[in-house]
Amino acid sequence: MFELDQVAVHYPGNESWSLAPTDFTIETGETIMLLGPSGSGKSTLLRTLAGLTPYQGTLRFEGAPVNDWRALRHRLGYVIQDGGLFPHLTARANVALMARELGWKRDRIEARLDELAELAGLDKAQLDRFPGGLSGGQRQRVAMMRALMLEPDVLLFDEPLSALDPITRLRLATELKDLIARLGKTVVFVTHNMREAHFFRGRAVLMNGGRIVQQGTIEGMEEEPAEPFVAEFLMAEQAM
Ligand code: ADP
Repeated sequence: MFELDQVAVHYPGNESWSLAPTDFTIETGETIMLLGPSGSGKSTLLRTLAGLTPYQGTLRFEGAPVNDWRALRHRLGYVIQDGGLFPHLTARANVALMARELGWKRDRIEARLDELAELAGLDKAQLDRFPGGLSGGQRQRVAMMRALMLEPDVLLFDEPLSALDPITRLRLATELKDLIARLGKTVVFVTHNMREAHFFRGRAVLMNGGRIVQQGTIEGMEEEPAEPFVAEFLMAEQAM
């Protein structure tokens, strides 16, 4: 689905790479859990996949180098920590925004909203509220509906559960895992939380200092850490 060939991100004024030159492949239908401490480059890598940040190197999507990210807009769904909803639009308008821009008819939009509310476990009446009038969990459900609206092939999640209380987080994580399995999409999920990485399974990819330091299973990393940082990260995660 994605092939990165020496893809790198350097923000002006920063001393070091936010993403050092990286080779990385993501298969269609795969779930990737991007792990690492804060500042390790997880969001930068995710934002690169979403076409939200300038990069060097070559990034291929379905085999072709990406030149125009607008053409990919419908293929990628993106959910961030606090939902990233527009506060001045109702939940309904947030979810329907792109479809309206594309000229979808009202009936088609309503039918899709029905489907998505069911899928995301949201009471449809809540779609008339503004984001400020929704709980954190409801906001994330709306954000997921928005990401899924145009039936993307790839879902990009940047710590979508981190701002939620433990009960809401577990409930949403369980539903999300089920949804990912049912929809069979390619998923890239950023988290600094090892338990989430365990929960969703998939390929664990551990980053540090803008580099991918090890990938595979967490058990594999525990057994054979590629460098001292890996052992330190896993141990710190277990201790606290
Ligand atoms: P993570 O998601 O793992 O917490 P990030 O990808 O957000 O890490 O950040 C990686 C590095 O890049 C950090 O040093 C961060 O300060 C820097 N960085 C991220 N975004 C920007 C930006 N827009 N401008 C300048 N530096 C940035």
